[in-house]
Amino acid sequence: MTELTAGTTPTRADALALDAADPLGAYTSRFEPAEGLVAYFDGNSLGRPVAGTAEAVAELVRGAWGTLLIRSWDESWLPWPEQLGDLVGRAALGAAPGQTVVADSTTVLLYKVLRALVDHQVALDPGRTEIVLDRDNFPTDRYVAEGVAAERGMTLRWIEVDTAAGVTPDQVGDVVGPATAVVLLSHVAYRSGWVADAEQITRVAHDSGALVLWDTCHSAGSVPVRADDWGWDAAVGCDYKYLNGGPGAPAHAYLAARLHDIPTLRQPVQGWMGRRDSFLMEQGYSPAPGVRSLVSGTPPVTGMVPLWLSLQMLEEAGIEAVRAKSLLLTDLTLAVVDAWPDELGVVVASPRDHERRGGHVTLRHPDFEVVNRRLWERGVIPDFRAPDGLRVGLAPLSTTFVEVWDGLAAVREELEAAR
Ligand SMILES: *Cc1c(COP(=O)(O)O)cnc(C)c1O
Repeated sequence: MTELTAGTTPTRADALALDAADPLGAYTSRFEPAEGLVAYFDGNSLGRPVAGTAEAVAELVRGAWGTLLIRSWDESWLPWPEQLGDLVGRAALGAAPGQTVVADSTTVLLYKVLRALVDHQVALDPGRTEIVLDRDNFPTDRYVAEGVAAERGMTLRWIEVDTAAGVTPDQVGDVVGPATAVVLLSHVAYRSGWVADAEQITRVAHDSGALVLWDTCHSAGSVPVRADDWGWDAAVGCDYKYLNGGPGAPAHAYLAARLHDIPTLRQPVQGWMGRRDSFLMEQGYSPAPGVRSLVSGTPPVTGMVPLWLSLQMLEEAGIEAVRAKSLLLTDLTLAVVDAWPDELGVVVASPRDHERRGGHVTLRHPDFEVVNRRLWERGVIPDFRAPDGLRVGLAPLSTTFVEVWDGLAAVREELEAAR
């Protein structure tokens, strides 16, 4: 792949050359066309539909649902949570089969898995009364942790972080100890795009006897995750961001095999679909073996259909190639923004170091709320995050380099017009 020359201002021709040399370039045309779209900078928030998604959903309606009707539960749908989970595990999480499910939403799965881990830790050692998390974790993660803490009489132990960066192993080391039950952190920070050193942080937490729950919303499908190799305990993340599952697509949860089938480690929403032998309709709940026990109710089949296509595409492209393009896309973004005049007043609020940089770059400027509205009107779609952040989220499989160049040129124009 062509490299950007450090210190020079990239031209539109440079962006076109990067596209011409892009080994993943062909994937950008394997998405549903979007009329009037100039640049999509929100693949990290709502991934675009993979071409064929509309047909696959129609096929479900006419075939498996409309024609086979209830027979489809037996013939195909019932094991989808684990089957689709295995595909998420393989394509995006570095997880061997049998440890991942697709179900519920991120928020609900965070609650279920956090409660299960907390209860297990407290059962082993009642002195473990703290949940460690960071102040800039995504709101739902913080609120869920507040709820679990209130329910179980736990204390939240907050790590203060630089919002242009994120949590470090040293910061975690400073707060974990014999009172820590669970550490809950995002692998990639939603605001800055900071990639936490998930292997080292897991080790530091384990050294103090804590378990770690990783949020993979902004890493799955963007940054390589090696859940098994890094010794992860559990992870929960979205499937509608870099995984293109569609608005409100069911989420994924990973639970390491060594934590399966432990009587003290139980998720709290004991529904019939997570029970052993669901269809015997027996009295009393007894969890299904393995990761199936994380499922509660009927699988959201319709919402799972787009994910099969997008995950197969991701597996085919390979997460390492996706990551290589992602870094080049954000390199281009930074090179363009760095060449803007200082008077424009735009500040980069994301890591520059490749190792710590995720799939998006956040820029800060007091006028971005207004600018973002104008950009949307002209088909350039970043997102605004209060108080002054513009996120440039670049999904490698659907984004071209020239799209980045054109979109950033529009950001600059609108900023100049707003002055
Ligand atoms: C997007 C996101 C969520 C969203 O949770 P939902 O239940 O899908 O609304 C949670 N956590 C993080 C870190 C996110 O980026």
